[in-house]
Amino acid sequence: MSFTNYLALILNNQLPLIGDITHLSNVTISHVAEGIVEITPRDVSTESSTYIYSCGIHGNETAPIEIVNDLLSDIVAGRIQVHHPLLIIFGHLSAMRKSTRFIQDNLNRMFSDEFSNYPENDIEAPRAKLIQKEITRFFNQYSNHHKVHYDLHTAIRPSVYRRFAVYPYLKPGRNISKRQLQLFSTMGIEAVLFMHKSATTLSFYSSDVHGADAFTLELGKVEKFGENRRDDFSKAEGVLRALISNTKFAFDEKLPVLCQVKKELIRHDENYQFNISDDTANFTEYRRGDVLASDSVETYTVQEDGEMIAFPNGKVKVGQRSGLILSSTKLENL
Ligand SMILES: [Zn+2]
Repeated sequence: MSFTNYLALILNNQLPLIGDITHLSNVTISHVAEGIVEITPRDVSTESSTYIYSCGIHGNETAPIEIVNDLLSDIVAGRIQVHHPLLIIFGHLSAMRKSTRFIQDNLNRMFSDEFSNYPENDIEAPRAKLIQKEITRFFNQYSNHHKVHYDLHTAIRPSVYRRFAVYPYLKPGRNISKRQLQLFSTMGIEAVLFMHKSATTLSFYSSDVHGADAFTLELGKVEKFGENRRDDFSKAEGVLRALISNTKFAFDEKLPVLCQVKKELIRHDENYQFNISDDTANFTEYRRGDVLASDSVETYTVQEDGEMIAFPNGKVKVGQRSGLILSSTKLENL
C-alpha cells in the first residue's frame, strides 16, 4: 500500500501519483500533493477539530519526520482510528533527500506570501506556495471547525529547556489558549516563547490567515535518520496520536515556563560587539548589568537578573536581528 512507509518513498523518489486514494473502513487517505497526505474520517461531526501535522520544513530535522511517518503507517494499517480530519505535510522533500536543512533559502521564512520576494529561488519558494495552497484548501473545507496546526521541528542549537514551543504573535482580539499550553506540558514541552510580532514562519501563517491554534514545536535535537532516541519524543508522540483518535490520555494541567520577548537585539553597524557566542544555549540566563551587545547606536545591558537569550547570531548583516532577549512571565500578564 502506497502510504505504508511513505518516508522511504520520499527518500527513494518513488512517491505515489498525486490523486492516489486509499479507502479504509473508517477513513479515506488521499495523496493530495507531493509530500502531502490528507486523511478524512467517514463521519466528521461539527464537534470535530481539524489538525495539521507538518514535519521536515527543515529537511534534516529527522525525528519529527519519523514520528509522522510512523503515524501515517499506523493509520494505513488500521492501528489508529482517526476521528478528526488530518493533513500531514512532509515539508522540504529535496532537503530531506540531501540530509540538509534547506537547499537555497530557509523554507520557514517564506510563508504568508513571502515566497514571492524570492524570484530567483526555484526550490523553496514554489514549495512554500504549494504548502500554503494545500493548507488553504484543507482548512476551507472545515471553516466552522476548530483548527490546530503543529509544525514539528528539532534544533541544532542547545537549549536550557530541551523542548519548547514558539507561540506565534496573535493580533489584537485573539486570546492565548491555556489548553494548548497544558497540552504542551503533556507533550513534555518545558517552555513557551511568545513572539512579539508577525513573522514569515509556517505556524504564524496558519495562525494568522486561518485562525488556527498553530505552533512551532521544537522537540529535541537534530540527528540523522535512524539515529534518533525516540524515547525522548514519546510524550509528544503520544499526544499527537491521542488527539486525532480521541484516545484518553493523562492531561498535565501545569503550565510550561512562559517567556515573552523583552527586546530584539539588532546589529546597527559593522563595529558590532556581540558578547554572546553563537553556540550559546537558548534560554541561557544573564545577570543584571551584563553588557550583551553594543555598537554606535545602542548598548544593551541586562536590566533584571534572569533575562534570557534566544537564537543568538552575531554574524548577521547590518540591520538584522542578532538575538531576542526574553523575560519570564505569567499567563495573566500576556
Ligand atoms: Zn526547524
